[in-house]
Amino acid sequence: MKDLGQLNCHLCSVKACRSEPNTKKPPQFCPTLTETERLAAVERTYLENEELRKWACESARTESAGYCRSTRVQEIMDFARRMGFTRMGIAHCVGLLEEAKIARAIFLSNGFEVEAVCCKVGYINKEKVGLSDKDKVHSGQFEALRNPIAQAELLAQAGTHLNVLIGLCVGHDSLFFKHFQAPVTVLVAKDRVLGHNPVAALYTSHSYYRRLKEQPAK
Ligand code: SF4
Repeated sequence: MKDLGQLNCHLCSVKACRSEPNTKKPPQFCPTLTETERLAAVERTYLENEELRKWACESARTESAGYCRSTRVQEIMDFARRMGFTRMGIAHCVGLLEEAKIARAIFLSNGFEVEAVCCKVGYINKEKVGLSDKDKVHSGQFEALRNPIAQAELLAQAGTHLNVLIGLCVGHDSLFFKHFQAPVTVLVAKDRVLGHNPVAALYTSHSYYRRLKEQPAK
């Protein structure tokens, strides 16, 4: 396996990009040095596209306003208010229905309208799309396909402004992002083993989860 990719910010010990330009010397592999034209073009995008600039500014204001004080659910509502979003969409996993219910109640009590739709909506038989019985979680039974495309379509039809993912599985969330044009943010990243706290595997990869680095992850 190749050790280094084209982009290697993870190896930087300087983090010059956090400081004023020319106050710290970035490493030679810093994209700020090696990709000057592309990054200048990106900078122009913010300056020329008013909508994107608003997104960038309101994201930054959300960050600074609640820095180390607001929880993610509070930040989502703060960002929505700043953007003028009044209709929240929740795309949730069928296994996190209770969490979706709680999030909905919080959004409602904070003055938002809320639409929520679960991942199994439409109950498409997995076998219909080419999966076999052995591909199911529980073989020998009917299993409905997770249906993030339907979640995206139904939320789009409902005209939600900001859509919040609660526990969509890996890959299903990718399909949701791929299929959805409207703004999306993640409240809960599903991890069935770690209580939806996937970063715990990284924090313990020097000890209990050492195997993640020692063999192909399972
Ligand atoms: S952008 Fe440059 S300075 Fe910032 S972390 Fe990456 S390599 Fe380091």
